[in-house]
Amino acid sequence: MRHSVKASVIHIIARLSRIRHKMTDSCLFCRIVSGEAKAAIVYRDEQVTAFRDIHPVAPKHILIVPNRHIDSVDMLETEDEQLMGYLFTVARKLANDEEISNGGYRLIINTGIDGGQTVFHLHLHLIGGQRMRHPMG
Ligand code: AMP
Ligand code: ZN
Repeated sequence: MRHSVKASVIHIIARLSRIRHKMTDSCLFCRIVSGEAKAAIVYRDEQVTAFRDIHPVAPKHILIVPNRHIDSVDMLETEDEQLMGYLFTVARKLANDEEISNGGYRLIINTGIDGGQTVFHLHLHLIGGQRMRHPMG
């Protein structure tokens, strides 16, 4: 396939994927979900994608995101309750895969500016592999 044709096909597939998951062009995590932006993906299914945080704060630091764009916890609807529960199910599975279940781990969802959120696509931080410190704030 000629290079330009191939690039167009990739672009169309990415756009269809975005429409299917209601993704936004400008969102970094939407682009990671669609495969347009690179990330160290550790898990992916129909509902969620998980990848390693680019600036880990501990030996294990994974972000679990819904494939569908949701800005933050503050934008959740009642029908998202199953999805939110599922993020925690995947976190538990990944903690087991990463062998941090026994030692324990920390799960964080920063919400809004005062909550310390910097990427406005809802994500659950799974952090472990060392003893966590307090206070969190
Ligand atoms: P938060 O501050 O809770 O919104 O978390 C955003 C997280 O995304 C931070 O821990 C960043 O290190 C992480 N991050 C930003 N860009 C990337 C990227 N391209 N790939 C993986 N993680 C990223
Ligand atoms: Zn997004």
